[in-house]
Amino acid sequence: MPELPEVDALVRFLRANVVGDFITRADVGELSILKTAHPPLAAINGLEISGVSRVGKALIVEFDGLDLVCRFARAGWLVWHDVVPTGPVRMGKGPLGLRLHLASGAGFDLSEAGTKKNASVSLVTNRAEVAAIDNAGPDALSIDADQFTATLAGSTSRIKTVLEDQALISGIGNAYSDEILHTAQISPFAPAQGVDAPALLETVREVLGQARDSLIDLPPAKVKAAKKRGLRVHGRTGQACPVCGSTIAEVSYADKSLQYCPGCQTSGKKLSDRRMDRLLK
Ligand SMILES: [Zn+2]
Repeated sequence: MPELPEVDALVRFLRANVVGDFITRADVGELSILKTAHPPLAAINGLEISGVSRVGKALIVEFDGLDLVCRFARAGWLVWHDVVPTGPVRMGKGPLGLRLHLASGAGFDLSEAGTKKNASVSLVTNRAEVAAIDNAGPDALSIDADQFTATLAGSTSRIKTVLEDQALISGIGNAYSDEILHTAQISPFAPAQGVDAPALLETVREVLGQARDSLIDLPPAKVKAAKKRGLRVHGRTGQACPVCGSTIAEVSYADKSLQYCPGCQTSGKKLSDRRMDRLLK
């Protein structure tokens, strides 16, 4: 799932490459990706792209009076073409959700790997019409210490859950919450209320800031691999922790997993496997 650092890299790339260019055509490859019908997608044909921005993990392509809000979900990404293929898009074939053609001859796709079809695109006159934008909490890189402290103090959830809750703090997902908690040496299952919030916020800024710096000038095709290379615990089950040498462990859920270092984060204790818990009930 693209998180704040990767989406910022996309924003930076697109600002340099599409702002001031015009949409000549929008092709839909997967109907379910488009969540809005009014105005129709064809309303952007001929319009100039006036800006590109981000709210949380969502990317927004801006036109005068219209916003195209792109949400990538778990498996979505942006594919850039210096020269966009001009042939017809075959509906329902492969990962292509939407293809935008630009007057310069370049273009980009919003594509989604796999079969889940959770990525979404909304064309709206006001971005707050998209519930995920309207409900988004303060950005993880701009939330202040008082807000962050109040958010943690007001929650009865585990810290990992709070960091990933876009309505509380926007921009952090499964990978960077694992990385942040590893760097902060906090168990993902620690109650949010008991966490030293100002100290954790420093770590949030450090981890996201470093990730952002490492990705910010990469083209879209290189961002995902670079993100993976920069991760120290997420997705590294069974490998040695780069800090203490313990074996990185994981907790599996029905459709995802989290990773942590028992040596750094849980005083050597193994957290129970959620998926097993459910099976044993
Ligand atoms: Zn460790």
